[in-house]
Order: sequence, then C-alpha cells, then structure tokens
Amino acid sequence: MAKALVIGAGIAGIASALRLHKKGYEVTVIERNSYPGGKLHAITQKGYRFDLGPSLFTMPHLVIELFELFDKNPKSYFNYKRKKTICNYFWDDGQRFTATAAKNDFIQNASTSFNEPIEQISKYLERNKKKYDLTASLFLEKSLHKLSTYLSVQTLKSILQIGILDVTSSLDETNKSYFKNPKLVQLFNRYATYNGSSPYETPGIMSMIPHLEMEYGTFFPEGGMHQISLSLYQLALDQGVQFNFNENVQEITIKNHTASGITTNLQSYEADFVISNMDVYPTYKYLLKDQKAPEKTLSQERSSSALIFYWGIDREFPELDLHNIFFSADYKNEFDTIFNKKTVFEDPTVYINITSKENPSDAPTGHENWFVMINCPGNYGQDWEALKQQAKKHIISKLDSILKIDLDTLITTEHILDPVQIETDTSSYRGALYGAASNTQFAAFLRHPNFSRSIKNLYFCGGSVHPGGGIPLCLLSAKIVADLVPKIKDHE
Ligand SMILES: Cc1cc2nc3c(=O)[nH]c(=O)nc-3n(C[C@H](O)[C@H](O)[C@H](O)COP(=O)(O)OP(=O)(O)OC[C@H]3O[C@@H](n4cnc5c(N)ncnc54)[C@H](O)[C@@H]3O)c2cc1C
Repeated sequence: MAKALVIGAGIAGIASALRLHKKGYEVTVIERNSYPGGKLHAITQKGYRFDLGPSLFTMPHLVIELFELFDKNPKSYFNYKRKKTICNYFWDDGQRFTATAAKNDFIQNASTSFNEPIEQISKYLERNKKKYDLTASLFLEKSLHKLSTYLSVQTLKSILQIGILDVTSSLDETNKSYFKNPKLVQLFNRYATYNGSSPYETPGIMSMIPHLEMEYGTFFPEGGMHQISLSLYQLALDQGVQFNFNENVQEITIKNHTASGITTNLQSYEADFVISNMDVYPTYKYLLKDQKAPEKTLSQERSSSALIFYWGIDREFPELDLHNIFFSADYKNEFDTIFNKKTVFEDPTVYINITSKENPSDAPTGHENWFVMINCPGNYGQDWEALKQQAKKHIISKLDSILKIDLDTLITTEHILDPVQIETDTSSYRGALYGAASNTQFAAFLRHPNFSRSIKNLYFCGGSVHPGGGIPLCLLSAKIVADLVPKIKDHE
C-alpha cells in the first residue's frame, strides 16, 4: 500500500492526513508534542477552561466537509452555533459599539454611531464582496504556484492591478477613502490582524475579510475551539490514520531529489510521500539541512505574534460578549512599534475572548474565563519577562479605566503565553501566529507553495505556506495538498 507521512498534527496536518487517507494512502502522522492540534489546544486551571490559540471560528463548512468526506454525520462529532454579535468595541473616550452579524443592522447602527452615510457603508461592504468573489477561487482554493505554469505570474500580477482590488493602496488608505470617522476606519483596519499584518502596510484587498465575517458568519464550537482539532483527530483515528506522539522528526530523507521517508529521535520511516505541517522555515533549516533552501521565501517578514494572559475572573461582566476589543488611542504608533521597533506598545489594543459566555462550564459559577491578548512582535531575543510585566500593567490600566474596575483584585488565576513559548510549543519561526506577514502587495505570490520545486514527493501544508495562516486557510492548504498528491493508481 502506498504510504504517506505527515510531520505534525496541527489542524492542517490532521486535515491532510484525512484527505490522503481518503485517497487510499496509508497515513502516519508524527507529532513532537504529546497531543494533537498544535496551536489549537486548551488548558484547564483551577476550574477555568481556556482555549490556548485561536478564538475566532469562521467558515465552518471547511471543517464539516471533512466529516462528509467519510459519509459521517458531522453532528455526531462536532457542533457549533452562529453568533448574532460579531464583536463589542470599546474606545478610551467611553464610546462603545456592538457589531451585529445581521448586515442591515450593522449598517444602520454603524451609520448612527459613527455618523457615516448608510450608502457609503453599503458601498464599502459591496466592494469587499466583489474583491472576494473575484479572487477567492484563484488565490485561496488552488495552488497558485502550479497555476502559474499555464497562467504566468505576470498575468496574475496584472489581475491584481485591477483597480477594484485596492492592491496598490494600504488597507488604512482604502478605509480612509470611504470613511471620515477615524473610529470606523480603525474598526475596519483591525482586520489586518487576522493574518498578523499591519493595516498601514497590508494592501486594501484585505477588506474582503470583514465581508467573509458578515456574509458567512462567525461561529462558536460547542465545547470551545479545541473541539475543532479534537473532533477531526477523533475522525482520523476512527478512519485508521496512525498518530505517533512524542516523536520529533529530525530529518527528511532525500534520495535522487525525491523525499523517501523521515528520521525521528526514535526511528526511521520509509514513505512514498512526505507532507510537512511543520513551519516551512524550520523544515528547511533543520529537516532539510543539506538541501538548497528557497532563501528569498524564507527571509520574508514574519507575521505578528501575541502575548496572551489567561485570567480566571472573579465576577461576571454583562457588557462583554465572546469577542471584545478595547482599541488603542494611537493605532498607527501601535503597529509601528510592533513591526518596526519590535517591542510592545504602551497603549495596546486589547482583545478579550470569554468562552464562558457561550459555554458556562468553562468557568465556575459567577466567574468568567478571560483570554486577554495583545498583538506583539515575533521573538527577536527581546527581554520577554520584562515585556510581559510591562504589558500586564498597560492592559490592566486600560481595562480599569474603560470598565471602571480594579482588575488586579479580580484575577484569581493566571497563565501566560508569549512568542518564545509559541515557538517552543509549535516550532513556529519567531512565534509568528500566521507564518509570513502580508505586509506587501504581492504577499500571496511570496508564500511558499504547497509542494517543493526541487524535491519530488515533498509537500507542505499549514499556516506558514500557501494560502496562509488561520484555521480556514490551513484547512484549504490541506485540500490543495491532497489535490496535488497523485491518485494511488497514477502513482503506482
Ligand atoms: C494565540 C493565537 C491566536 C490565534 N487566533 C486565531 C483565530 O482566532 N482564528 C484563526 O483561524 N486562527 C488563529 N490563529 C492561527 C491558527 O492557530 C494557526 O494558523 C493554525 O492553527 C496553524 O495550524 P497548522 O496546522 O499550520 O500548525 P500548528 O498548529 O503550528 O501545528 C504544527 C504542529 O507540528 C508539530 N511539529 C513541529 N515540528 C515538528 C517536528 N520536527 N516533528 C514532529 N512534529 C513537529 C508541532 O508540535 C505542532 O503540533 C491563532 C494562533 C495563535 C497562536
């Protein structure tokens, strides 16, 4: 039987394993950690459950179709509900805004709150939809780099030049061309952080992200985000995919420019195909040491990382929902500090995710489980212990002032994740959340393809390669890999 090896049991690794198994391959996943899911993991501390990584769930159909691929009823593995509120926003001057999922309500409320004409907001959202409709199938659902064999990179670049896509202006410039109110601009600028980029650098085409949220919705998985990786892992086990945990892949075996297996700290394996779900940078640097690496691709700027404080909170806050954002008063300076000065900003935008709002058992009665995150630079050897203390002080002072509380006295338990730990736990180079940043016009072309150009039978999936980071794109990368790997009968 033809064999495929997957390095890493992140969400893209699990999804690739499932899809290759469906194609008839005998699949073994080798995972360094003792658990599946990579960044999609969780902890429980003093009665509080915390999702450690992703908190926002979009495009659930990409999860559901994996169960359907095996004729399984998704509901027997995984359930989720659509959110009516997208996010609660807070500003230092006391203004608050609740973004509803219902588009017409959103437009009406935003028009009143930010004093912008209804027609202008509608026009903006309509243009975002066009951007998505024009580009999604080309840039997200296929191997861009294989397409270029019959559609030249130059042609693709010309497509991008179409004015409507706003590729030549930044997201901030695009948003300012629609809105006068700096708060509404800031609200739409924040979508740059969905792929770890700066709104002042990333192109205006990224405004398709709010379209995705509004058109397709935002969701909450029953039992929390961790259920996404756990349920797919269970499906893979049920189908007979083999998982070997606590095993560190140290080398990909290359013979005659062809991947033929791997060596771990415990043993060697032979295979017909190797798929790396490990970040592409360490894959080349550590597992393919003797091979020529695509240095230009690997040297791209990395996406932002994060500092996350997981706090058990001894109170409930009716004014908060699942997703809450407390904006910095100086957004431009915040991103300059993250990407150029590579440190944490003194007035950071604070994101609070509270799953106990949806899943009451995630916190003791009368309490809440706060996932409090600020964007920060990747790990460049900064003094993270000092930066964590500074960040905590800034976050508490901001939340105290806006929510009129004494937060320090409400924190009953604490766990902290920083870029160094993210890098240690998942091998993400510099602790980046989303692989490379999209701070250039042509970021889509610069991401590593889902296959190796020089080594046969070697493929790549996950957040550091095409089409990008975040759960939906990771799941799409697995789909692309499965399309690229030949059918068994063609291979044999
Ligand atoms: C704090 C945080 C917040 C985020 N928020 C969101 C969000 O709200 N929504 C969203 O969609 N996305 C979010 N993301 C991004 C999302 O988590 C990632 O894009 C996605 O989970 C990456 O999945 P992956 O399959 O690429 O790899 P990973 O999850 O990085 O997994 C890679 C796996 O490979 C294993 N591995 C590495 N090297 C080896 C080796 N040598 N041998 C064996 N195994 C190895 C690792 O141990 C790991 O398990 C967030 C990420 C973080 C960290």
